[in-house]
Amino acid sequence: MLDQRLIESYSQWPHFISTAPKIAYAYVKDYLRRRPDVATRATTVEQLAMRRSLDPTTLRQTIDAVNASRSQRQEPPLAGNDWVLLGPAKAYFTTTEGGVAINEQFQVLDSSGAPIVGLYAVGQVGLGGQILWGHGLHIAWAITSGRLCGRALAVRALTVS
Ligand SMILES: Cc1cc2nc3c(=O)[nH]c(=O)nc-3n(C[C@H](O)[C@H](O)[C@H](O)COP(=O)(O)OP(=O)(O)OC[C@H]3O[C@@H](n4cnc5c(N)ncnc54)[C@H](O)[C@@H]3O)c2cc1C
Repeated sequence: MLDQRLIESYSQWPHFISTAPKIAYAYVKDYLRRRPDVATRATTVEQLAMRRSLDPTTLRQTIDAVNASRSQRQEPPLAGNDWVLLGPAKAYFTTTEGGVAINEQFQVLDSSGAPIVGLYAVGQVGLGGQILWGHGLHIAWAITSGRLCGRALAVRALTVS
């Protein structure tokens, strides 16, 4: 739930709502335009509740409770004539960071650190313990590790008869 201040805040860098296909960083206006199924805008809390089939009294009470606790923390209240409701939000694990242990030839290592013969890992499975924080690094690693592994296997094919 975003009030006028949060809508303004989440409408420009660095406060994007999320990354999104084809538009990179998605702000409030992107959600309103492209995801009307999960983004609703209204000028009052009550109107917003009606549009999402929520009980207006309960939503107002919730905001009042939030504002009471914000006040104790000396934070500004949720207020104004512009409201956006996003959701419902669902959390998923999209990737598991780390992958299996590998060596520089992309051979998978067993629990004692020895290569498992004939087993190689690249991309997400072959992260070799890396935790990648930046956007695009996973795809970059999938491409780079695949290329390096392919090269290592080609060299091996030429040298091992
Ligand atoms: C929602 C989401 C958003 C993401 N956004 C970004 C992003 O913005 N930037 C970024 O860099 N990374 C992003 N990533 C991560 C990135 O997409 C992955 O790290 C990357 O695609 C991994 O590539 P991969 O080739 O290792 O594995 P995958 O792309 O998972 O390929 C593995 C393939 O193996 C197939 N497969 C599985 N089992 C078998 C089997 N037994 N036999 C045959 N085939 C099999 C699967 O079907 C799949 O096609 C995102 C991931 C998700 C899920």
